[in-house]
Amino acid sequence: EAAAKAAAHLADQDPPTIFDKIVAKQIPATIIYEDDQALAFRDISPQAPVHFLVIPKNRSGLTRLSKATEEHKALLGHLLFVAQKVAMAENLGEGFRVTINDGPNGCQSVYHLHLHVMGGRQLTWPPG
Ligand code: ADP
Repeated sequence: EAAAKAAAHLADQDPPTIFDKIVAKQIPATIIYEDDQALAFRDISPQAPVHFLVIPKNRSGLTRLSKATEEHKALLGHLLFVAQKVAMAENLGEGFRVTINDGPNGCQSVYHLHLHVMGGRQLTWPPG
């Protein structure tokens, strides 16, 4: 856990991320949705029977949610819309959770904004 925390602190910078490589199809991912602005793909380390990520293709300064400015509002709305659209396509009609981890205290490890969408089992609250 200490190592994960240290990595989260170190990762709060702005070089290309592993998600940029997924967008560029330079590394493989199971892509389940794509449009001009957004990409959804399965998380490599799923925390629920269904666990996918929704990301902006162009990170455009959005290393983390707290970097959002007025100009990001439409994109943020679009990402949330895609999250529910893909959740429905994944048969999550009984419910699901959308999570954004922001920064060190949020345990963010990849500094390319992403929405986690998890479902397919009864989730508990609060998260850790
Ligand atoms: P955390 O790692 O604490 O969940 P984040 O909110 O930054 O922090 O989540 C990054 C997510 O990206 C993790 O759930 C991780 O499993 C996932 N991930 C990392 N690399 C890949 C990859 N190559 N393909 C798919 N998912 C990935």
